[in-house]
Amino acid sequence: MTIQTRIEDQPKAPKPQQVAARTNPDEVRHDWTKDELQALWDLPFNDLMFEAQLVHRRWFKAHEVQMSTLLSIKTGGCPEDCGYCAQSSKFDTGLKASKLMEVEKVIAEARKAKDAGATRYCMGAAWREPKDRDMDMVCAMVEGIKDMGMETCMTLGMLSGQQVHRLAQSGLDYYNHNVDTSEEYYPNVITTRTFQDRLDTLERVRNAGINVCSGGIVGMGESQSDRLGMLMALANLPEHPQSVPINMLMPMEGTPLGMSEKVDPIDFVRMIAVARIIMPMSVVRLAAGRELMSDEQQALCFMAGANSIFVGEKLLTAKNPEADKDQVLFKKLGIQSMPAHSCPSEKDVSARA
Ligand code: SAM
Ligand code: SF4
Repeated sequence: MTIQTRIEDQPKAPKPQQVAARTNPDEVRHDWTKDELQALWDLPFNDLMFEAQLVHRRWFKAHEVQMSTLLSIKTGGCPEDCGYCAQSSKFDTGLKASKLMEVEKVIAEARKAKDAGATRYCMGAAWREPKDRDMDMVCAMVEGIKDMGMETCMTLGMLSGQQVHRLAQSGLDYYNHNVDTSEEYYPNVITTRTFQDRLDTLERVRNAGINVCSGGIVGMGESQSDRLGMLMALANLPEHPQSVPINMLMPMEGTPLGMSEKVDPIDFVRMIAVARIIMPMSVVRLAAGRELMSDEQQALCFMAGANSIFVGEKLLTAKNPEADKDQVLFKKLGIQSMPAHSCPSEKDVSARA
């Protein structure tokens, strides 16, 4: 038998256009239903990845990943009871509480992150909400870091209208406030503030014109339906969060969720793919838990549409893959850093329509 006849005997592969796309990559929707999300989730893995790639490549350069560095500007001693968090004063986690860092020290750390290739500097504080007297210092941090040409992001807990206004005036680019899980599962994780409190802060931030960063955590004992419920809550906000961090729970000793079961790696990749498809113009961030993932799982997450990560050695209190290991992986995958201020915007597109 010649090679020619053997090839002819093979069933023909479908041409790309014969694979029907379920989603329109051009469309940005805010009316997703649970059934639609479930149908995406239930797709055979390769079809789900194909859909996610179609959407991803419509709005982003396939090889670019936005790189942020995160600094804890105020660690521990938080009065909230988020069941996953080592910084809550309600749990005995052995973490020492510290005061708000000096502005100069924060700016010096941001300069190091910039030199190491980060384009966005994210700062987190273990607060229920900032006190008004803290606002001068956090606004000075934003101004100083913006002067260096970096994008800025803060996560300080709930914000009043006045505090949002001050942050907007200081030029803050992004505010992170995660919904964390579905509305239904939320009371199993946090009792000291409600899901609606979180939506209220997000609304204030959005209305002030600051980009919203909001996502959640998988692996807290929630059901499959809760995971999709969380994504649906984010996708059906009046505007999609410009940045959507998907965290894999980092179990912290001493917290109520410290002994949680590991998330199935393929389920996590599916979660990223569904987020990418339903929030096409949002940067989807592979956030906490990357340290626990193999190179192969991270590569699948990037293929599924994750295009933002934290770089640097430490997340707020958890480890992050060391910078060198990241560089080796990015080189293998041909990943490059997304330039600052290059994300697409839903507002621009609807203005043009
Ligand atoms: N105190 C502020 C707040 O809660 O909004 C800001 C800091 S808080 C640590 C930021 C986010 O980090 C949380 O909303 C949660 O999604 C994530 N996070 C905290 N601890 C985590 C853990 N152990 N594993 C995964 N994600 C975690
Ligand atoms: Fe406090 Fe934020 Fe931790 Fe909740 S997640 S306990 S609000 S630091």
